[in-house]
Amino acid sequence: MLKTLRLPRNGRSADELLAELEQRKSGDADWRRGRTWSLVYYAGDEHAEFLKRAYGIYFSENAVSPSAYPSLAKLEAEVLAILLALLNAQDDEVGIMTSGGTESILLAMKAYRDQARNRGLQGEPEILLPISAHPSFLKAADYFGLRVIPVELRDDYRASPEDAKRKLSPRTVCIVASAPSYPQGVVDPVPELAQIAREAGVGLHVDACLGAFVLPFMRTLERKVPEFDFRVPGVTSISADLHKNAYAAKGTSAILYRTADLRGYQFFVTKWRNGVYGSPSMQGTRAGGNVATAWAALMHLGEEGYTSLVERALAVADALMAGIREIPGLYIVGEPDMTVFSFGARDLDIFGVARRMSERGWRIDKQVAPDSIHMIATPNHEQSVMPFLSDLKQAVDEERSNPLKLETAKEGTLYGATGDLPVGADPVEYVRSEMGKNYDLA
Ligand SMILES: *Cc1c(COP(=O)(O)O)cnc(C)c1O
Repeated sequence: MLKTLRLPRNGRSADELLAELEQRKSGDADWRRGRTWSLVYYAGDEHAEFLKRAYGIYFSENAVSPSAYPSLAKLEAEVLAILLALLNAQDDEVGIMTSGGTESILLAMKAYRDQARNRGLQGEPEILLPISAHPSFLKAADYFGLRVIPVELRDDYRASPEDAKRKLSPRTVCIVASAPSYPQGVVDPVPELAQIAREAGVGLHVDACLGAFVLPFMRTLERKVPEFDFRVPGVTSISADLHKNAYAAKGTSAILYRTADLRGYQFFVTKWRNGVYGSPSMQGTRAGGNVATAWAALMHLGEEGYTSLVERALAVADALMAGIREIPGLYIVGEPDMTVFSFGARDLDIFGVARRMSERGWRIDKQVAPDSIHMIATPNHEQSVMPFLSDLKQAVDEERSNPLKLETAKEGTLYGATGDLPVGADPVEYVRSEMGKNYDLA
């Protein structure tokens, strides 16, 4: 189909365009009023304005070249040092900043694959992956030719060390743990898994994309925190998102390694016809602004700021979970360790409840195994607790007296770009034919 939009012959005024952008987003998910439960982590207008100024100072600089921009390399080194200290680095741990949790995880999986190959691994490398791990590990396996060996969960939704041990093979390159897992917000038994990894001589990657900036401050608040960081012998890498609970700009995460040797395997170097090209991560050009916002956020909020944000987010999560437990028929899945949790229903369809909540203006994240609604609490949700619980009570009452017979398939309810899947549709075929249309001009 011929697209009708062309580059304008004469540029339009900046004021007019900025006003149009503001206007265009007015129908989007209302995260500012706390109506979404993922996607945005917000520490207030003042913090956001501060980050935008920090970003602006490095708007044009390119962090792919430490020799051209030594100040950016230094800022990155400082961010990584602070993160390593927060995660109880013991000795010679190192890291690198990335564009997001997905890139951090992709890089770690590539590092383990290449390390194992360097040690003489023959055949298809295997990763022992708890079935609660984030889908970006499946993406890594798909991109890098790794075989996924699923590790089952115990009854408490935490990865089973016994199952991991059973499934080790000579081709295992690493074991994965989450701190906490995305679906149920529980921390896997990292010390047990790390022990198994150590005995087998393989790495243990801890995905702390959600937990890295919550769990350490829960210790300060004297809340119960499972062991998950570099203090545990055998933990060899940790992914930690800065654009989630560290409140830096979107496009910032970090991958941390026990040794510089392991990190070396994530770097890409090639002799190209026109010289040698090296790059530390999956990106070529790296936005300098992202590094600046991460540094600015850490330095501005400090231990006190993060502890207070974590305390507020925990209070939101605790109030929501307590309120949900009081609604007859609803239950919290497992025993969540921090601010991430999900809830299901015993004698009614939770997806009917979800639909009714969406109709009330909430953006609801649905998931299966078990059928549930997924929640991530942040301080910006203080305003949402009462209205959410009150709408939820009503939605449950309505669903109980008049169940909706929903037409969407449950498997299609996930996360990311997929959207609701029509009943009977094959997910791969559906996504391949439909997902791109979001980006096509109608
Ligand atoms: C968000 C998340 C990821 C992926 O990170 P992106 O920043 O979305 O790429 C990985 N693991 C967990 C536990 C996450 O919450």
